[in-house]
Amino acid sequence: ERPIETLEHACRDTADQNRDVPIGKAVVHWFKTDLRLHDNRSLQKAQELARDNNVPLIGLYILSPEDFTAHCVSPARVDFILRTLQRLQRDLGELDIPLYMEMQEKRKAIPNRVVALCQTWEAHHLFGNIEYEVDELRRDAKLVRLCSGKGIAFNLSHDTCVVPPWLVELAAGAANPDYLEASEEPGSNPRDTRQSFADLFDCKVPTPPGNKTLTEEAKKKFEKLYPAGEHEGLQRLENFLEEKGKQYEKNRNLTSGDGTSVLSPYLAAGSLSARTAVITAKQANKNCLDRNDSSLATWISEVAWRDFYKHVLAHWPFICMNKCFKPEHTNIEWEYDEAKFEAWCEGKTGFPIVDAAMRQLRGSAWMHNRSRMVVSSFLSKDLLIDWRRGERYFMENLIDGDFASNHGGWGFGSNERFDPEEEYIRHWVPELRDIKGKAIHDPYERGAGAQAEKKGYPRPIVEHGASRERALAQFKKALQS
Ligand code: FAD
Repeated sequence: ERPIETLEHACRDTADQNRDVPIGKAVVHWFKTDLRLHDNRSLQKAQELARDNNVPLIGLYILSPEDFTAHCVSPARVDFILRTLQRLQRDLGELDIPLYMEMQEKRKAIPNRVVALCQTWEAHHLFGNIEYEVDELRRDAKLVRLCSGKGIAFNLSHDTCVVPPWLVELAAGAANPDYLEASEEPGSNPRDTRQSFADLFDCKVPTPPGNKTLTEEAKKKFEKLYPAGEHEGLQRLENFLEEKGKQYEKNRNLTSGDGTSVLSPYLAAGSLSARTAVITAKQANKNCLDRNDSSLATWISEVAWRDFYKHVLAHWPFICMNKCFKPEHTNIEWEYDEAKFEAWCEGKTGFPIVDAAMRQLRGSAWMHNRSRMVVSSFLSKDLLIDWRRGERYFMENLIDGDFASNHGGWGFGSNERFDPEEEYIRHWVPELRDIKGKAIHDPYERGAGAQAEKKGYPRPIVEHGASRERALAQFKKALQS
């Protein structure tokens, strides 16, 4: 049984029991990867129930270091999540809604803890948005039954995708496209909430686990690069659509420019809703004077890739459990050359475009889409190193690390040509900054070797043509076996 079915069965089995559950003294929304007030399906439902019954809404967030370890969450992303929580707490506070946050060492303990908290607050209705990762679906299925046994109704919503996984066929026929309707922001809690739940308002954002802590210098850098919170996400969306969005078609593949939205950290943390992104882009496209410009439509189709990979995860979870997307690739004899892997991680392969991209990742915890394709292809097809090592390294370092998109990006395996950008290399590989013209792409072969050597830039760790041949032979062998 697929985990999404396990969850569906749990919801169906408990539906009758959950029908007449009394309201209790509060309603709880459990925040996970939906750290926003704006256009949050489950939050809106929770708020409506609370408002209709004149009881307070409580926000809950539980952080487990084991979750961070299991998904290899990068310190930059942990920091971003914690900063986002701080903003969320402030925004909810303005509506007199408390955000209770705590750390649970063991993630297995989370379902029992959620139930215990609901009991403490005498809340009989718990709300949450569905996450499509395998462990998360199983956790929620367990919690649905656990809650039901204690007289608590756990109400789940599809929210993170623009088109929920079970709606694909319907979407094709576009019979009922209400999935493109944004939900409303919650209103204020009853006035006396600050008295009745006073201790919840003093809650502090948990400190990150030791192995996920950034240096002060890195913290400052990321705060500047990616200010947290939904206001920032919405502002970035607006700026992008007004300015760069109209040139997206033309500029999106230029690694050196800033032709893309860099909204991925916000979408991954849920501080921006993908639905809002698409609705706003569609509106901007309608208002666009040049009707022949398909840039925003192209951008929307890129956001659809995010949905696509989540659908793959929900419907075919087995291919996301460390398996290859193409079964015939299972038999490839990967090499485990530590020195080459290190060189790739550190951006010292001697291939300037690869090195620029890997240094961009180390320096900014983000990488341009095209560069992600180039370095993933280089790792698996030039170095013949198991792509799963690269996938993991990405998660450990990206601020936008998303299991489904990352696994999809790596698993489908890209076969992109190198398409080097001189400016990009000059920015991220300062050793080559002074080399003029096209020689920067391959200094040792194009007459700039002495200059590169003097600055300590490495020679290529493999010979591109030969290593491709070797990799192709391996792929062919795996296919035949
Ligand atoms: P834009 O071009 O402005 O696109 C807007 C949004 O659409 C993105 O923020 C993202 O949410 C979505 N999107 C765009 N392209 C893709 C795509 N190919 N696949 C899935 N979603 C897409 N994206 C992640 O969010 N997290 C990851 O961990 C991740 N790992 C990747 C690993 C590899 C090997 C590859 C090839 C791609 C990966 N991507 C990942 C997809 C893509 O590279 C990033 O989403 C994109 O670069 C983010 O930049 P942006 O916000 O400026 O994108």
